Amino acid sequence: MRSSAAIATRADAGGEESLDARARRLSAAAGGADAAEILRRAVLEEFPGRITLVSSFGAESAVLLHLIAQVAPATPVIFIDTGKHFAQTLSYRKKLARELGLADVRDIRPRPEAVAAADPAGDLWRRDPDACCTLRKVVPLEEALDGFDAWITGRKQFHGGLRAALPVFEAADPFIKVNPLARWDKADLDAYAARHGLPPHPLVEQGYPSIGCWPCTHPAAPGEDARAGRWRGAAKTECGIHLIGARRAPAAT
Ligand code: SF4
Repeated sequence: MRSSAAIATRADAGGEESLDARARRLSAAAGGADAAEILRRAVLEEFPGRITLVSSFGAESAVLLHLIAQVAPATPVIFIDTGKHFAQTLSYRKKLARELGLADVRDIRPRPEAVAAADPAGDLWRRDPDACCTLRKVVPLEEALDGFDAWITGRKQFHGGLRAALPVFEAADPFIKVNPLARWDKADLDAYAARHGLPPHPLVEQGYPSIGCWPCTHPAAPGEDARAGRWRGAAKTECGIHLIGARRAPAAT
């Protein structure tokens, strides 16, 4: 893993611009640009060959995956296979990749020896979900992001919570994160999916508006927040992958 100090030095040497300043400049430049244009600039102009898209292949993932397939279908797409996904998610990941023509979907997994040591019975999610997410999601993603300067996420402001003030570009030392759908709402997503005939995740029709690992995902009732079924009954609302960078540099973002 590269050190954040090395990145800061390289950024400073390249143009006296910090990661935070670069993120603010790119967000300002994005202005009223639509999601496809934001992706085009990020993938083809700002971070050519140095950017990846991280997708859960969940309830809202098809829109962003379709957009990247139009802009640059060879962009690496990272799917974190935690070992705890619904079977429907694994089949949906294959179906979407095939139908959208995504050329470089990378399934990443926690190291078997790490799982054997920290979660031999496979029930860490029940005892310590934060530790489970770190083991099965955060650490594998940190390793997979090595070599990239930026990653694309599907987060949106309408999800609320920590996402309510989400910028289009954000600094997450040593990365820039790109959130092309930050300003989209549910109606925008539904309209785009209908216009392009995108296949829904098979669990959506069973009442799951947000889909993660099976032990930690439950249906949401009509009128509940989309993420209400995630870690239901616990204070936890995020898996922790979006704390990558924040953990290393608390002042960033
Ligand atoms: S969402 Fe649940 S099962 Fe999946 S990694 Fe996190 S705690 Fe573990």
